Amino acid sequence: MRRPIIIANWKMNGSREKNTSFLEHFLTAVNAETCDIVICPPLPYLSQIQQSIEITAINLGSQNVCQYPEGAYTGETSATMLADLGCQYCLIGHSERRLIFNESDKSIADKFLLLKKNNITPVLCVGETLQQRENNETEQVVLSQIDSVIHSVGINNFIDSVIAYEPVWSIGTGLTATPEQAQSVHLAIRNHLKTHNSQTASGTRIVYGGSVKPENAADLFSQPDIDGGLIGGASLKAESFAEICNVL
Ligand code: PGA
Repeated sequence: MRRPIIIANWKMNGSREKNTSFLEHFLTAVNAETCDIVICPPLPYLSQIQQSIEITAINLGSQNVCQYPEGAYTGETSATMLADLGCQYCLIGHSERRLIFNESDKSIADKFLLLKKNNITPVLCVGETLQQRENNETEQVVLSQIDSVIHSVGINNFIDSVIAYEPVWSIGTGLTATPEQAQSVHLAIRNHLKTHNSQTASGTRIVYGGSVKPENAADLFSQPDIDGGLIGGASLKAESFAEICNVL
C-alpha cells in the first residue's frame, strides 16, 4: 500500500506574517491522518516553518537544492544544509526551473543523488508542454525525463523517491488534466518503472500537479495510480489546502 502524499509548493510567495497566519488556519482546518503532508516554502522561510510544524505531523520540503556539494557556489544552498534545517523532501526538476532557469537533466540527476546522500526524499517533477502533448509525445517526454535520472543514479537509488507528473500546460493556468488523462500517464510511468524494477514500480508514489483545487482533487486522487498531489496556487490559501488534504 502506498501512503498518499500532498505537497504544497508555495513558489516565490509568502512573508513571515502571511506564513504565521497560514499555519494558524491550516493546522485548525486540516484533519488528514491518512496521508503525508509536506510544505515547501521559499528557502528563507524554511526555519520559520520548521519551528511552527515541529510538533505536528507536517513535513518540511525545499523547492530547490544546489547540484554541487558545499563550497564556493555563491547564492546556493546545499543538500547538507537542507538536511540540517530539517527538510525531509525537496522538489527537483520543476518545469519552472527547467524552463526559466535552464536546468538540465544532468543537473537534476546530480541534485537527486545529493539529496539521497543526505536522506532527503527527492520529488522528481516531470511533464510535457502543450506542443509535445499535441504531437503525441507526452509519454516519450515524461519517461525520458525519468530515465535520464535512473540511468545516472541507478534504480536502487530511486526507491522511496516521489515522482510528480505535472503537465506544463496545466501549471498555474486553471487547465487541469482530466482524471483519465492524468491516470493514463501515471500508469505509463508505473509500467515503465516495472521494466527497471517491480518493487520500485509498486512502491513509488506518483503525484499529480497542475491546477489542483478543492473542486477537482477528489476525482484526481481516486484514480488507482494517482497517489496524491503537488499543489501550487491552491496551497497558498490555508482553507483550500486543508480541503485538498482532507479529501484523502
Ligand atoms: P498550480 O502549480 O497548482 O498553481 O498549477 C503546481 C506546481 O507548479 O507545482
